Amino acid sequence: MVEKSKTILYIVATPIGNLEDISLRAIRILGEVDFVLCEDTRVAKKLLAHYNISTPAISYHQHSDIKKLDYILDLLSQGKDIALVSDAGTPGISDPGGKLVQAVIARFGSEVNIESIPGPSAVTAALSISGIQTDKFIFMGFPPHKKGRQTFIHKILASEWPVVVYESKYRILRFLEELRFAVSEHNKKIESELDKENYESRIKNKADKNKKLKNINLSSVVVCRELSKMYETVYRGDIKIIIEKIKSHSNEQKGEFVVVIGK
Ligand code: SAM
Repeated sequence: MVEKSKTILYIVATPIGNLEDISLRAIRILGEVDFVLCEDTRVAKKLLAHYNISTPAISYHQHSDIKKLDYILDLLSQGKDIALVSDAGTPGISDPGGKLVQAVIARFGSEVNIESIPGPSAVTAALSISGIQTDKFIFMGFPPHKKGRQTFIHKILASEWPVVVYESKYRILRFLEELRFAVSEHNKKIESELDKENYESRIKNKADKNKKLKNINLSSVVVCRELSKMYETVYRGDIKIIIEKIKSHSNEQKGEFVVVIGK
């Protein structure tokens, strides 16, 4: 038998909706490790049961205290292999996974291997179907709930690259309305500055004006709802029409959302 050299913390990507979206390696690892760390044991158990995996699940979420973290670090120091999963997608992408990885690196350095088991993430799923050029993009995660929303939106406007944002069903309409308002204010300001410039220099150069209107093209906003699930919906086009569509029925406001803002 080959002697096990190092303890391993696996960071395992799991489906963002459709339970079939998981790699063969992820299924094998989840079955082989000593423990599965998860945000919500009910969500993880559903996935594990679907694949007949009986590995014990331990919860680790954003409200877990230091005692829980110490308990997990102790398990690793005893040589237990652990797989970290989140409720959906890739752990660490806008969820508490990253904190654990930092704590493990801080405590064990290279004594514990941290291995990625890649797979789905809502950010890449949304980008892949957006039709927006995505050679480069900025991922900004969730907008802040209260303070800092305006700054967040202005950073989106200022970005040179497409921007991806996660938003909850409770705030999706508010976010889109705020984005729409900010874009129209931004455009008005630039238009009036350019008009003034053109007037002063007596130049009416439309191409130049368009070049200077460095703003969001409103027709390149894509809102993805419930990706890979039964009610998957992709709203493309003018942000005003997207807002109207989402407003038109309470069912359109249900589920999970990713917004891709093209440039
Ligand atoms: N770690 C996850 C990932 O890799 O995408 C993201 C976790 S974050 C706490 C949850 C957010 O991801 C949701 O609020 C939503 O914005 C987005 N999301 C997750 N699953 C989704 C899906 N099936 N469709 C659309 N958005 C989704």
